[in-house]
Amino acid sequence: MGQAVKVAVIGAGVAGLYTARELQREGHQVVVFERNHRLGGVWLYDPRTESDPIGIDPTREIIHSSLYPNMRTNLPRQVMCFTDYPFPRRETGDPRTFPVHEEVLWFLNKFAEDFELTELIRFNTEVVRVERVDKKKDKWVVESNTRGSDSLGQEVFQAVVICVGHCTEPRLAEVPGIEKWPGYQIHSHNYRVPEPFQGQVVVMIGLGPSSFDMSREIAKVAKEVHVATRNPDVRVLKLENHDNIWLHYMVERVHGDRLVAFKDGSSVYADVIFHCTGYKYHYPFLETNGIVTVVDNCVGPLYKHVFPPALAPWLSFIGIPQKAVIFQTVELQSKWVVCVLSGKVLLPDEKEMMTDVERYYQKMGDRGLPKRYTHHLYPNEAEYFDWLREQTGMPPFEEWRKQMVAECLINSRANYDKYRDEWNDSYWDGIIKAASVP
Ligand code: FAD
Repeated sequence: MGQAVKVAVIGAGVAGLYTARELQREGHQVVVFERNHRLGGVWLYDPRTESDPIGIDPTREIIHSSLYPNMRTNLPRQVMCFTDYPFPRRETGDPRTFPVHEEVLWFLNKFAEDFELTELIRFNTEVVRVERVDKKKDKWVVESNTRGSDSLGQEVFQAVVICVGHCTEPRLAEVPGIEKWPGYQIHSHNYRVPEPFQGQVVVMIGLGPSSFDMSREIAKVAKEVHVATRNPDVRVLKLENHDNIWLHYMVERVHGDRLVAFKDGSSVYADVIFHCTGYKYHYPFLETNGIVTVVDNCVGPLYKHVFPPALAPWLSFIGIPQKAVIFQTVELQSKWVVCVLSGKVLLPDEKEMMTDVERYYQKMGDRGLPKRYTHHLYPNEAEYFDWLREQTGMPPFEEWRKQMVAECLINSRANYDKYRDEWNDSYWDGIIKAASVP
């Protein structure tokens, strides 16, 4: 291997932990900065919510996690882990295949303990500035603020890997008339329990996994729940098996008397608008003089969603892709970054990487996709994984992983209310067992 590199990893969630392990295994010197008091990122439940329920007040105290007490994983535990480190069932925990969130936190803690990662982490330490020193590519100052300390810490690293996640800074729906709409607004980031919505008429904007789960939880106490989706095929439709959940096609406009009008011609007087509209990539600490920007939720330019060509390989991002299995994405991206930092894999030169990024943007444009979809991998996840695998020399992922994720998607579309509990464990145990026989 090449020389050991001194690397700052920012964040101790799934991405930061796996990256730290890979860097350490390769003999690099690693410091992980984590602003929270414990590891786990999204999976560290925090009962607090932010002072501004829609998250637009820049002075609010940031609460990292959006978890709510009853949240269960939307994928089976067999794919919510690393290929070399499975997610077992434990006697004292939730043994279900789609467990409640505490199990994932337990799994991540176990991973950190087994690879002695905790000693690498500086807890309660928020990175507030990352900037190149004297425009040198491999000299970065990381400025951090440790809770309880009255001065900022500064340290120079050769490389910085950004693993801060992207489910904390709310993105809001653009709704005509919303400035004058008098009801209560909240983003799913600040949802914890359904009780505050007792007896209310709630309009949820967005039809992602959070909206699916929260609408069902809230409907148990609310008078009515109306879910608005971008899907143009949806017309007013009451959900089967639910007395008080309706689907609609997009909110067209809201009015000063609380009326919410949908594009399918229907309307309701609502008490609450609930934004289930996802999150923004947000790197307030990163100062690159305009080299890396976030425009319409596209972080760029990034070669293969990881390296900014002009700063590679000394600055990288892990975990940016969406609509992809996060554990496998993180696994492959981290291995690639570490191979590159160790000198085992060479990147193309800056110009070639930029050409690749521009070609990618061009392809998106040709398909009529807006910029904000830049990091959505679906349906090209397999192609991306294969490419990373070739770079890192990793063997292909077992076929059952792909099949399991596909089946999960089919089941959840067919019967969202039951897909987690009707999962055929013995069938899948058999498939996995057969695949592991040499
Ligand atoms: P995170 O988990 O967000 O970790 C980032 C870490 O960086 C945090 O610990 C944070 O404190 C730290 N940090 C941020 N800024 C700084 C800073 N300036 N200085 C120091 N530290 C900083 N995925 C699934 O596969 N299955 C699921 O069922 C699933 N459910 C989800 C449910 C919800 C409600 C949400 C929000 C996400 C869910 N996800 C799910 C996706 C989830 O984001 C990923 O599984 C994964 O946790 C992402 O890991 P990460 O390390 O990239 O980011």
